[in-house]
Amino acid sequence: MCECGALGPVVKPPDAKVIVVGGGLARASAAYAMGARGLDVILVDRRSEYPVMFRAEKIEADQAEIMRRLGVLGHRRPLCDPVREVLSFEGGRVEVVDTVEQYGIDYTETVNCIREALLGVGVELINGAVSSIEADAFRPAVTIRDGRTLTATLVVLATGGSDKLIESLGMRRAMVPRLKSLSYGFDCVRSDGRPFDFVGFNHHLPPNARRIEYVTLFRIGGRMRANVFTRLTPRCDTAIALRKELERPGTVFPAPKRLRPYLHHDVRVAGAVLQIFLRAIRATLRRSSPAASSRAQLGAVSFFHRFGSSLNVHPHYHLVVLDGVFSKADDSEIAFHEAHGLTPDRIAQVESVVQKRVLRYFRRQGLLDEVDAAGMLTWQGSGGFSVDASVRIEAEDRAGIERLVR
Ligand SMILES: Cc1cc2nc3c(=O)[nH]c(=O)nc-3n(C[C@H](O)[C@H](O)[C@H](O)COP(=O)(O)OP(=O)(O)OC[C@H]3O[C@@H](n4cnc5c(N)ncnc54)[C@H](O)[C@@H]3O)c2cc1C
Repeated sequence: MCECGALGPVVKPPDAKVIVVGGGLARASAAYAMGARGLDVILVDRRSEYPVMFRAEKIEADQAEIMRRLGVLGHRRPLCDPVREVLSFEGGRVEVVDTVEQYGIDYTETVNCIREALLGVGVELINGAVSSIEADAFRPAVTIRDGRTLTATLVVLATGGSDKLIESLGMRRAMVPRLKSLSYGFDCVRSDGRPFDFVGFNHHLPPNARRIEYVTLFRIGGRMRANVFTRLTPRCDTAIALRKELERPGTVFPAPKRLRPYLHHDVRVAGAVLQIFLRAIRATLRRSSPAASSRAQLGAVSFFHRFGSSLNVHPHYHLVVLDGVFSKADDSEIAFHEAHGLTPDRIAQVESVVQKRVLRYFRRQGLLDEVDAAGMLTWQGSGGFSVDASVRIEAEDRAGIERLVR
């Protein structure tokens, strides 16, 4: 039994026939609803199967309700439970947002699944491109490119972004507003292979020069999907860079190109490099705090960032480090020893130590051979490694700390 009763009874005139042109989600659903209610329906689409295309991947409660009333919600693929709880990051805070109903959908599979179900409700499917429509008030006609002409009582036109037929009927698409949204969709996995501990996440970015507006993560079946919505133009540098990164995962900055894929894909390697980095900073801080013991410890919080500000793959580390060390003599309290003389030269030494030790680590792990590692040590500058310690915040600088937290 279908769920279309919700739409009310149909009074079917004798010989009534509906031709639906275009079999995407909109019209395949309409054709299904009309077929299930006993109408004589033909669906014409230029493709026998809906191809893999990036289209709507998430439906909200009101859209789910329409699909339910049309009887096609159960044909959504892959079937998955509604999301009940979404995390939202806005204005520097994470909040939990309760959602009544929201589904991730695989658009292509969903459309093809509804199309398959059309036969079961008596809808005839015709594969062909419609070349013209005669908008006769009593007997509209549809001509297919192979020369066939079909007549009907009603023609329903929904050919997506294709404007030709619409314009031939004297209608024009109005853009409201004229700004375009360039969107990206891709699957996400955690680098440690474990499942995500949330089912949905939304991030509204404040207006920014990169023109990325909104990022949303949600599940489609067992996959975690990301959709990024931007106000970029397709040919601007950021859009081109973003497209390249998504087409070619594994590019990493700021480490040398050779090391990037390992850092990006292997959490064990990313962790080992962080340890090397922390040890080098600790040694420098100890040297810069002569009153501290040789076993003094540093205080630091680290973040491993996988993306740059335009969401390009760009693994790098952010650290908040106290510029001093903690040490404890046998009979005394823990004391903080402020470091002195943290000059650019000393920071450059950290860079050079990290470069040597990371290359040695890669060599020992069998990820780099001897010759390549030796060659990379001779690269100009810091050989692709870079440490930027230019931001310093005084303990009393509340505004600076607030900015850091945000
Ligand atoms: C990147 C992207 C992201 C989106 N995200 C969302 C979202 O999150 N939420 C949301 O609600 N909406 C979203 N949308 C919009 C949504 O995908 C569309 O509104 C919806 O797919 C339109 O469905 P449709 O059936 O009208 O068109 P389509 O799915 O485009 O189908 C049109 C059909 O018409 C056929 N056709 C075209 N010309 C002819 C012809 N001459 N003869 C015969 N057949 C023809 C095509 O073969 C096709 O099968 C998104 C769209 C895009 C592009």
